[in-house]
Amino acid sequence: AAKYTGADRAREHSTALDATAAHHAELAAALRRGLDHGEFRLLYQPIVELPGGVLTGVEALVRWQPADQPVVSPAEFIPVAEHSGLILDLGAWIIDAACADAASWQLRHGANGPRVNINVSARQLLDPDLPGTVAEALHRHGLTPDRITIEITETAVFAGGAALDTVRELRELGVGLALDDFGTGHSSLTLLRTCPVTTLKVDKSFIDDVNGTAEQEAIASSLSTIAATLGLRAVAEGVETRDQAERLHALGYRYAQGYFFARPVPAADIDAMLAAPVLLS
Ligand code: C2E
Ligand code: MG
Ligand code: MG
Ligand code: MG
Repeated sequence: AAKYTGADRAREHSTALDATAAHHAELAAALRRGLDHGEFRLLYQPIVELPGGVLTGVEALVRWQPADQPVVSPAEFIPVAEHSGLILDLGAWIIDAACADAASWQLRHGANGPRVNINVSARQLLDPDLPGTVAEALHRHGLTPDRITIEITETAVFAGGAALDTVRELRELGVGLALDDFGTGHSSLTLLRTCPVTTLKVDKSFIDDVNGTAEQEAIASSLSTIAATLGLRAVAEGVETRDQAERLHALGYRYAQGYFFARPVPAADIDAMLAAPVLLS
């Protein structure tokens, strides 16, 4: 076979890029139509208290169900929605839908209704209207701000100077602020001095091997200590086994989330889970 020349390689590279760009443009248009046609929905994954397993909160996780096609994961479409700017409209829909569900839980269960965590992405934190969007949704659904926690990532807070201002305004509204995937960013500890968070969601990667080496355990344990020392809640993410849950409780974790307790489910399934805790012992 003929040897590749630099020009061939460059041509091939740019074709691949064009294909990606075309695919992104197509996907972005389909997402826009999907939003207009009501193809998005929220699932909720329980956040439980250890060791009793009582459901105290839920995280809203968005899904896209295009007509006659399999459901699409947010890992695939959130980056495209961010890039195209659609995340602002989609994000506003997510905030409104999550507040509507939070209000209906509060109506039926009062103070025992789950608090609702809502993910926001980097692009949303750069939008000066985000605190207003959240405040309006709370007002529209008659919710007090303490029923809602906004999940942000370290990477998103560092995306720009204005992101930190938005985060501070959100906190001033009275909503909770959780640092998602905690420990995977570049300056986790620096952020704790400047960012007014109320909760650390310790990343699954620190939780996975909690029953493994002494080093892994020391890290998981230190992260819960940091949270406790700073007066923050620590939530262990991605808990998949009973052994992990028990160990995490022993290491000082009071809250956990993961497939061991429950997968993300439709809002209607949460009511039954409120009444049926997953006990550890
Ligand atoms: P995340 O915010 O860290 O959400 C947790 C992800 O881990 C969810 O995936 C959840 O289903 C998954 N998970 C929970 N427990 C376990 C477990 O025990 N084992 C394993 N292997 N996975 C577990 P999902 O729903 O696919 O969401 C992926 C990411 O997409 C989220 O990560 C978040 O960054 C983003 N995302 C989801 N919904 C939204 C949204 O409404 N808005 C924004 N901006 N991003 C969202
Ligand atoms: Mg999250
Ligand atoms: Mg997370
Ligand atoms: Mg994550």
